[in-house]
Amino acid sequence: MSDAPPLSEAVARGWELCTLDPAAARDCGQALTRAGGADAAQGWLITAWVEARQGDQAAAQAALHEAGQLLVLGPDGTGLALCDEIQALALHRSGRHTEAAGLQAGIARRDGLQPGPMQRYIAHSARAATCKALGQADAALRHFYAARDAADETGWAGPRITAADALGGYHHTLFNLEDARTLCEQALLAARQAGARPVVGSAASHLVRIYHAAGDFERAQTMASFMERNAAELMPDAAQRHVGSLALACLGSGEIEAALRHLEAAEGAPGATSTGDEEGAVLRAWVGARCRLLRGNAAAARTLAEAALDRLDGARLGDDPYDTLQLHLVLADACEAAGDVAAALRCMRQVHELHEQLVGRSARARYIALEIAHQLGNARRERDCAVDSHRSAEDDRRRLEDLNAALQARIAETDMLQAQLREQALHDPLTGLHNRRYLFETAPAMLELARRNGRPLCVVLLDLDHFKLINDTYGHQAGDLVLKQFSALLQQSLRRSDVITRHGGEEFVAVMPEIDGEGAQNMLDRLLEAFQLQRNTIGRRRLPSVSFSAGIALFPRHGSTLEQLLSRADRALYAAKHHGRARVEVAPRTGFGTLT
Ligand code: GH3
Ligand code: MG
Ligand code: MG
Repeated sequence: MSDAPPLSEAVARGWELCTLDPAAARDCGQALTRAGGADAAQGWLITAWVEARQGDQAAAQAALHEAGQLLVLGPDGTGLALCDEIQALALHRSGRHTEAAGLQAGIARRDGLQPGPMQRYIAHSARAATCKALGQADAALRHFYAARDAADETGWAGPRITAADALGGYHHTLFNLEDARTLCEQALLAARQAGARPVVGSAASHLVRIYHAAGDFERAQTMASFMERNAAELMPDAAQRHVGSLALACLGSGEIEAALRHLEAAEGAPGATSTGDEEGAVLRAWVGARCRLLRGNAAAARTLAEAALDRLDGARLGDDPYDTLQLHLVLADACEAAGDVAAALRCMRQVHELHEQLVGRSARARYIALEIAHQLGNARRERDCAVDSHRSAEDDRRRLEDLNAALQARIAETDMLQAQLREQALHDPLTGLHNRRYLFETAPAMLELARRNGRPLCVVLLDLDHFKLINDTYGHQAGDLVLKQFSALLQQSLRRSDVITRHGGEEFVAVMPEIDGEGAQNMLDRLLEAFQLQRNTIGRRRLPSVSFSAGIALFPRHGSTLEQLLSRADRALYAAKHHGRARVEVAPRTGFGTLT
C-alpha cells in the first residue's frame, strides 16, 4: 500500500506497543515478518519479546529461531545480541535464572555491539529480573535504574512507564517505601494518561501493597477498589498477579471474608500454580494465613504458612523479602495462637533476623536510589556546565569578534590619519600644492626616467615680483590670496605629469618632463601673460597686477641632479630679476655657475 508508513516507523511502533498493548504488538510483529525485507528480523524480535514477557515460551523460541536465521546472514551482531537478551529473559521466566545470568554475562563480553535505547532497555530489564531472582539486590536495582534511563531515551511512553513501575515495584520489595511510592504513583498517572492498561494494573497493584506496608490501609483499599472497578480492563488475564493485592487491601480494612473470597477465586483460576516461583505466591500465602488466623483458625494458618515456606528456599529473604518476612511473622503468630510457644519463639528469632536483613536492604535501596539521583544530578550539572562553557566560549568568540572589529576600525583610522599626516607632510597648507619635501622625493625618479629614455626635462624656478609690496600695501591676507591664485593658475596651466611645488615664500618650482627649453619658455611666457591679466580684490580694494620671473634649467644640459638643476634655474631666475623681472630666462648653455 502506497500510504503505509515506512517499515522503520512500523518497527518503532511495534517496539513501543510491546509494553502498552502486547496483543497489538504481536499483530505488528507478524505484519513485519509477513512484509519481509530488512525489517522482518525486527518483526520476529518484537514477537519473541512479547511472547517471552507473556510467558509463552514455545512461541518465543519459534520467533527467536526465525530472527536468528535472518540476523546471522547479515551478520548483524547487535541484532543477534538482542536475540540472546530475549533468550535470557525466556530462561529467567522458566526459572532458569543462573543460565540466564550466564548468557547475559556472555553478551556483556561481546565487542562492537551498538544497541539502541530499546535494546538497552530490554537488556537491563531482563538483567534486573535475573539479579532479583538470584537475590543480588544491589545489581538488580542498578539494572532497574539503567533500564529506566534507556527507556527514557527511547522517547516512547510505553517503555518509560513500564520501567518506572518496575523500579517502583522493586523498591517496594526492598521495603524502601518512599521511593517505591513516588515511582509507582508517577507510573500510574502516566500510564492512565497514555492508556497503558497493563501498567495501570501493575502500578495500582504495587501501590496497594506499598500503602498497606506503610500502614495507610484506607488508601490501599481505595486503590484496590479502583482495580476492582476496572477489573475487566486492568486484569483480564492476569487476575493471579493482582489478586494478592486485592486480598491484602481487604485484610487491611478488616474485610476478612472478602479477602478470602479473592484468594479462593484465584486458586480456582486458570494458570494458578503451586510453585513458589509464581508471581505473588508468597503474598497470597501470608495474606491467606493471616486471614485464617484472624478468623481463629490458627492451625490452618500454620499449615498454609509452613507449606509456603517449604516452597521457598529455606529461611532467606528470597526475591520478595517483605512478603517472606510477613510469612514468617504470620507463622510465628499462628504457632503462638496454637500454644506452640517454642515454635513461635523459633519463628520470631527468624523474623528478627529477617527483619534486620530487610532493614539493611531497605537502607541500601534508599542509598542506591540517592546515589543514582546524585549521579544523575552530577550528569545534569556536567551537561549544564558544558552548555554554559559552550555558551561562554561563544560569548568569548563574540567579544573577540567585537574587539577585532574595533581593532580593524582603529587600524583603518590610523591608516587614514597616517595618510593625512603624509598628505600634510608633502603638501603646502596654504596653496594645496606639493612642498619642497615632495619635490626631493619625486624628482630623482623623474630624472632617472628622462635619462633612461633620453627625453628632455626642465626644472623651473618661479618667484613673484615685488611681492613684499603686496603684503606691505594690502596686507598679508592679500598676499595669501595672490599666492593661492598663482598656485591655481600653475596647476591649471601645467601638465598633469608636471610636478609643481611651493618651494618657500613666494617661490615655486616646476619639474616638467617631455619638454625642451623653448617649449618651456613659451609655456611660461603664456602663463606670465595670463597671470598678469588676473586681478583680485580684497575687501573693496582692487589689487594691482602681479608678475613673476622664472629661470629654466634643462636636463641633462645644466645638470644631472635636482640640486644642480635648481642651482642653474636659480641663477637664471636671478638673471630674469636682474633684467627687469616679469620674464622667463633659460639658463645659458655653458658655464655652470656663471651669470649670463
Ligand atoms: P623680488 O621681486 O625681488 O622677488 O621682491 P619680493 O618682494 O618679491 O621679494 P622679497 O624676498 O623681498 O619678499 C618676499 C616676501 O614674501 C617677503 C615675505 O613676507 C612674503 N611672504 C613669504 N611667504 C609668504 C606667505 O606665505 N604669505 C604672504 N602673504 N607673504 C609671504
Ligand atoms: Mg623671493
Ligand atoms: Mg619675489
